[in-house]
Amino acid sequence: MASLKNYRSIVGIEHFEQLQMKSEKFSKYHILCINSTYQGGGVAEMLNSMIPMFHDFGIDFGWRILHGNPDFFKVTKSFHNGLQGDKINLSERRKKIYYETNKRFSKFTHINNHDLVIVHDPQPLALVDFYEKKQPWIFRAHIDITHPNTIHWTYLKNFIEQYDHLVISMEKYKKELNIPQSVIYPAIDPLYQKNKKISDKMIDSTLTKHGINIERPIISQVSRFDKWKDPLGVIRVFEMVRQKLDCQLVLLGAFATDDPEGQQIYEKVRKKVNKSKYKKDIKLLLNGTDLMVNCLQTASSVVIQKSLREGFGLVVSEALWKETPVVASNVGGIPLQVINGVNGFLHEPKDIKGFSESIIKLLKDEKLRDEMGKNGKEHVKNNFLITRLMIDWLNIFENYLD
Ligand code: UDP
Repeated sequence: MASLKNYRSIVGIEHFEQLQMKSEKFSKYHILCINSTYQGGGVAEMLNSMIPMFHDFGIDFGWRILHGNPDFFKVTKSFHNGLQGDKINLSERRKKIYYETNKRFSKFTHINNHDLVIVHDPQPLALVDFYEKKQPWIFRAHIDITHPNTIHWTYLKNFIEQYDHLVISMEKYKKELNIPQSVIYPAIDPLYQKNKKISDKMIDSTLTKHGINIERPIISQVSRFDKWKDPLGVIRVFEMVRQKLDCQLVLLGAFATDDPEGQQIYEKVRKKVNKSKYKKDIKLLLNGTDLMVNCLQTASSVVIQKSLREGFGLVVSEALWKETPVVASNVGGIPLQVINGVNGFLHEPKDIKGFSESIIKLLKDEKLRDEMGKNGKEHVKNNFLITRLMIDWLNIFENYLD
């Protein structure tokens, strides 16, 4: 892990010292985070950086992972889909699996001398029912809850209102609730293996190993295999671009342990690639390392993020940080990151033609790519780095710990 002092030169002395001073105030406290996976997806990504960094600043920060079986994760993925607007049945059986798993986990998860508890996303949300709360509990929802399915929302709201505070990723995700709500934008760790600067030689050797020819323009999307990331739509966009220009598409994906739908979506994508007229130009890669993600986002001429819904979309900031312009859907937290015409282009998710035209425009114009790339990095530097995220959390802690 990078030493704290290395962050100083990236984020600036003033900002770094502010973080240091604020952290000192909480050095005597013991804080606990609970979520449902240690890898795969943006939440795990942020916790992996933030928790050890808080430790290095002297705060005693614990991290527990909820244990669930495949049935449980099927249920919670249906909650996730329901909260993002899908019409899904919420049966008594599903509620029972959900509730009992949380109950069981609470039996061997002792929350005694912690001064504050942060619970991430719906999987461990119901835990709050099984403790005599002796400290503030904060619920951190990372998903787009603008238009949730009412049945799911009503069920989960009963748990949320037992918390002391709700944290969401965008102002427009705020709900009518009887507890205070705050917005914290997610952020990336610039010194993590996935985001730190790497040499051209390393990029070349890593990508070549995966059969990617770096002499040809690369378009890529890095995302879990999830219908909300619309990998099939990405292929349609690519086919339109490829008709006009020589280029290749790389879809790099993974399965998160708390997302059981991944395999099924992956199969659909594989079939679509096999049927494509341009199948030789499409690479479908699974479980790439952090280095691989870094190399791909850095070497791509254009990164695409064609999500249908997106809580925030950390991958967008990751690509912008590497000075790669991003052509993305105008949904969820993406427009906070992509400023249309400045560091990339935004389109409605259905606008396949718009996506392909913007990508073609960028592929044809190196100067535009360079300019947008620089703007992207600056935007992330000013808004979406992990140190800012930590300051935002400390500001919330100030309301509860003195
Ligand atoms: N990711 C990865 N390998 C993959 C796919 C995704 O390392 O094959 C990482 C990606 O780099 C990012 C996170 O998973 O750090 C995805 O976060 P995002 O907020 O974009 O989406 P989420 O998966 O949380 O919906």
